[in-house]
Amino acid sequence: MTTSISPVRVRYAPSPTGIPHIGNIRTALFCWILAKKTKGQFIVRIEDTDRNRYDAEAEKAIFESLNWLGLDWDEGPIKGGPHAPYVQSERKQTYIETAMKLIETGQAYFDDTTPEQLDALRQRQRAAKQPPRYDNRGRYRSKDEIEASREAGLPITVRLRVPEHGSVSFEDTVRGKVTFDLKEIDDFVILKSDEMPTYHLAHVLDDHSMGVTHVIRGDEWISSTPRHLLIHKALEIEPPQYVHVPLILGKDKAKLSKRHGATSALEYRDQGFLPDAVFNFMSLLGWSPGDDTEVMSRDEIIERFTIERINDSPATFDSEKLEWMNGVYIRDMDTERLMDLLIPFMECAESEGGMPDSVKRPIDRNYLRELIPLVHERLKLLTEGTEMLDFFFSDKVEPAAKDIPGRKMDVGLTIDAVAAALKLCRTVSPFEPDQLETAYRSLAEEMGLKPGQLFSPIRVTTTGKTFAPPLFDTMAAIGRARCITRMEHGLEILKSTQ
Ligand code: GLU
Repeated sequence: MTTSISPVRVRYAPSPTGIPHIGNIRTALFCWILAKKTKGQFIVRIEDTDRNRYDAEAEKAIFESLNWLGLDWDEGPIKGGPHAPYVQSERKQTYIETAMKLIETGQAYFDDTTPEQLDALRQRQRAAKQPPRYDNRGRYRSKDEIEASREAGLPITVRLRVPEHGSVSFEDTVRGKVTFDLKEIDDFVILKSDEMPTYHLAHVLDDHSMGVTHVIRGDEWISSTPRHLLIHKALEIEPPQYVHVPLILGKDKAKLSKRHGATSALEYRDQGFLPDAVFNFMSLLGWSPGDDTEVMSRDEIIERFTIERINDSPATFDSEKLEWMNGVYIRDMDTERLMDLLIPFMECAESEGGMPDSVKRPIDRNYLRELIPLVHERLKLLTEGTEMLDFFFSDKVEPAAKDIPGRKMDVGLTIDAVAAALKLCRTVSPFEPDQLETAYRSLAEEMGLKPGQLFSPIRVTTTGKTFAPPLFDTMAAIGRARCITRMEHGLEILKSTQ
């Protein structure tokens, strides 16, 4: 059953401290889908208040990932919108003003505890086997003491005064009711000594002023949520609906990391995955349409998506399934489109996985069009095009002598087979797949070889590979003259081993 839900305002709020990983982009994807589904708005906001960890490359990668996946935003950097600026470092003044208001009402206070003192406190707690937490000492500092510290150039922060007793609860869409005991929560920093807000304060204020209705974010933020609720309470504002989406694990059940392969959307792009396939695959990381359907268009996903169907247990990232799905999308594509996508990979430098540098660029599109039917079914990644097709374009075909003989064939017999195949190659007419097949099948029979025994040395000498597209189509596409040269060269290689 689909619950109809009024238009949401959702946001993707990455911190530009590293290249966004798949889990992070998956929350952006869920937000985007929900915004489309409810005809709401998808907001992008850059949370860059940690100036020490700010990384301009990461910020670039965030936009590149969103663009590559087609997750266009309604409001945010570049695009603008009614709540601009959408970059937190440009909203500094609001956070400072709010922190000061909270100080005036007694709900927050200035604290002059130094990082060294905090370190010492943590060490003492560790030694006493107590959980590390701030001991709220700043509550008891007088105005004069704080002023003196300020004058002495000590770092001054602002902390929220957290009630010592009671609990905070909220109803999470995915997790249900979640309750935290306030005893677990210390007075935490809302404004740092550089007058930048902490994430806790900044995102609460921005979500509120930007009218965010649903905060969809990773599970790792659930333990911070009571702090966010306390800020809402202190400011007497309504919290949004929280939707904490499950972690993504590798197939070994460990948290997804570099060890499991690519971890960022852009790496998948560079490895030859299609944005539509990655989109489809990621939509299933923590969500399911309720039946076994896996391959779905964007429209179908939008149509079937409900936040109620987001799982509360971790999602498993199965890279084989992603490859399979990419193959499905590639098979579904028409030749012209596939060529548009393959050519950039084929044309990049040999050292970057492209065709041998000796192959003329631009790639001959008309010739490629003839070849696509030979590989279309087998392609799973766009990067595989080079490996599957290079011998059509390059004459650098250098098979290893050991790969040339067919099953149970010694070098002598292989030489005879290639020599006979070469002779036939000069005469088959027309040089077309059907004629080639008939001719070579008869040759195998005449020589008392199984067809496969004869075909292997032909394949390896003409393509340089033990595995290639259907042999006779391949030979026809390579053309008689080049087949002859390559078989001659194969013979030389074989003879040199004798
Ligand atoms: N800036 C936080 C991050 O980088 C956002 C967390 C949230 O969505 O509230 O993940």
